[in-house]
Amino acid sequence: MIRLGLIGYPLSHSLSPRLHAAAFAAVGLDGEYHLYPVAPDDNAGLAQLTTRIRKGELQGLNVTIPHKQTVIPLLDDLTPFAQAIGAVNTLFLKDNKLIGHNTDAPGFLSDLHKAAPKGFSEKKALVLGAGGAARAVVYALLRDDWGVTLAVRRADVEQAAALMASMKRDAGDRFHHPVLLEAGELSPLVDGIRLIVNATPIGMFPVVGNSPWPDGLLFPRCAVVYDLVYNPRETMFIQQARAAGLHTASGIGMLVEQASLSFETWTGRVPPRDGMFAAVEEK
Ligand code: NAP
Repeated sequence: MIRLGLIGYPLSHSLSPRLHAAAFAAVGLDGEYHLYPVAPDDNAGLAQLTTRIRKGELQGLNVTIPHKQTVIPLLDDLTPFAQAIGAVNTLFLKDNKLIGHNTDAPGFLSDLHKAAPKGFSEKKALVLGAGGAARAVVYALLRDDWGVTLAVRRADVEQAAALMASMKRDAGDRFHHPVLLEAGELSPLVDGIRLIVNATPIGMFPVVGNSPWPDGLLFPRCAVVYDLVYNPRETMFIQQARAAGLHTASGIGMLVEQASLSFETWTGRVPPRDGMFAAVEEK
């Protein structure tokens, strides 16, 4: 029996158990995937779960908000992806060492390539937000030769600058100064943008009537709009972009990809993506 799970808080709407049940069934392995809600300040709870991996009681854990960074001091080592991003979403034991890995970045990139199978004429991206998911997205884009501009609210300019500084080695001159997520700042640069990624929680259940796109700002004429939010599948932002004639993608593809990559890390088996998509689309 393979025992896996997810640490985070809150976890009431998590789709991960369904995704992994489908993966276990598809590859014919006997396994279970539990939710482990751990409150933001519960360091003892976090430590207890990591110890269970060290003891072999659990074969691996996913980690989500708010522990993607706070769990790092409890680990022995990070994979190069996790090290560069500064956040982990997958824990596993290797040679008696507890390792932190990040499958968000490759999961995002792999799904982005599916969303735009013909590729992009120019690789200029605008990423909204500067939190944990933005770090993974920016890292993935820089590794895929994109030029990246971050658009953030005023209170996050320092955080965005720190994100840029930490990725300077991968970025070279392809990282531009962060701008404010406001129509006046964005309108002069928006036309050259070919990809817009929402890495803020704006539009996520239960506050579904909001969009991160500033009022009155025109969309570029030709761009892909990728919303990391997957609940609801069709956010206000996606609806606006589609109404402007743009190609869109929701975060459900990335969710499936990052889960598949974590599953592969733990079991060595590649689960079929179709079965996992079907599992999360079931009512
Ligand atoms: P996070 O670490 O809390 O970061 C969110 C970012 O958005 C922060 O920069 C935050 O600023 C900013 N933000 C929040 N409210 C804002 C507002 N009203 N206006 C402008 N900026 C705002 O969260 P995260 O882990 O990056 O997750 C972000 C979203 O991505 C969530 O909806 C999450 O579910 C989704 N996600 C999806 C996947 C997937 O597989 N599809 C994977 C990871 C994350 P402050 O720091 O100032 O609050």
